[in-house]
Amino acid sequence: MQEYLQRNETSCVALVEEYLSRSEKLSSLNAFVTVLAARARAQAQRVDAKITTGHVGKLAGCIIAVKDLLALKGERLTCGSRILENFISSYDATAITRLEQAGAIIIGKTNMDEFAMGSSNENSAFGPVKNPRNEAYVPGGSSGGSAVAVAAHMAMAALGSDTGGSVRQPAALTGVVGLKPTYGRVSRWGLVAFASSLDQVGVFANAVEDAARVLEVIAGVDERDSTSAPVAVPQYAQLLTGEIRGKVIGLPKEYLSSGVQPEILAAIARAKLLLEKGGATLKEVSLPHTQHAIAAYYVICTAEASSNLARYDGAHYGRRAQNVNSLEELYVKSRSEGFGPEVKRRIMLGTYVLSSGYYDAYYRRAMKVRTLIRRDFEQAFQQCDALLTPTTPTTAFKLGEKVSDPLTMYLSDIFTVSMNLAGVPAR
Ligand code: GLN
Repeated sequence: MQEYLQRNETSCVALVEEYLSRSEKLSSLNAFVTVLAARARAQAQRVDAKITTGHVGKLAGCIIAVKDLLALKGERLTCGSRILENFISSYDATAITRLEQAGAIIIGKTNMDEFAMGSSNENSAFGPVKNPRNEAYVPGGSSGGSAVAVAAHMAMAALGSDTGGSVRQPAALTGVVGLKPTYGRVSRWGLVAFASSLDQVGVFANAVEDAARVLEVIAGVDERDSTSAPVAVPQYAQLLTGEIRGKVIGLPKEYLSSGVQPEILAAIARAKLLLEKGGATLKEVSLPHTQHAIAAYYVICTAEASSNLARYDGAHYGRRAQNVNSLEELYVKSRSEGFGPEVKRRIMLGTYVLSSGYYDAYYRRAMKVRTLIRRDFEQAFQQCDALLTPTTPTTAFKLGEKVSDPLTMYLSDIFTVSMNLAGVPAR
């Protein structure tokens, strides 16, 4: 890309027009909540001007879409919710600042499950997103719009957030690369919180190298996010040598059970062969507490969500109910009108598991399970360098197929939530 730009064979301004017209042509996929045409054009002009003076940022001319729960100054920040439908952000997220400083062009804000709660993108107040490979199918969620923007080439890369699989699962269901970095690797300043002990900004791209280049730019400590890790950022892209000789790859036996769709098992078998051919050794390992991961995740994430979402009360942020006679009525009506059914379900569940008398039985117990899950990974990584697992138990499912059965929907996260509970990176 950058060679074309430097050789003057194209310009950022021309690229932006091309991508804008492509997203207009593919608008039936419903990947974007807001297309940032003016912001993208202005940034393209700035980057073109810099290229003529020889100052090329690491991501100069890279067209990037971002999930609509990252803040961009002066732009709408909906989180896929009616409650924030008209909310305008007053500042930029750190990840956005870093992307734009590196010359990237933010093309739009992508559709998502409301407040990042969902696995199919059917929980958005702005309608479902469709899978570009077959529009009758879901793209996964909650960062479905970001996955589709990349899969349908409406952006070269995209940012999403991953609390329990929301980058990896939609990436798997649309056939692109999705990376959830280590907890603390990327600043969450300007990322709307869902479950703060699990949330992490992640990257979508069509190639591993592109994801590495984006991560290089957005990663690193940030004084505005005390949970960001003060750890030096490697040149990830340069480290992608393809060399795996001598590496030990663990296959967790709990992830390859009979519940997994045969196509997925076949893909794992192919990956195994490729790794062996490259000189790696494969070894069976065990993550024995895997079976409790979904239960622990849905206690912890709902507990944290019930607290994080308390701020949307009609007084401080977003939608404010009309014709109310008391403060309590303002809270109740604003929240009842503003939140969709899945968000309400999680707030109720989270409030319940934290309530007096139930805290020990649910929340505290889930936190103990979380410790055991983290320990499983620590022990596995004493025997191997990396793990090979399926991302999802099934390939993409049909729109409407699981909406009336939240438990079945939650099970599509069965192979992703453990990594968030443990804080480890995954793709
Ligand atoms: N699908 C999971 C959930 O509904 C994960 C969401 C996420 O990672 N944001 O909670």
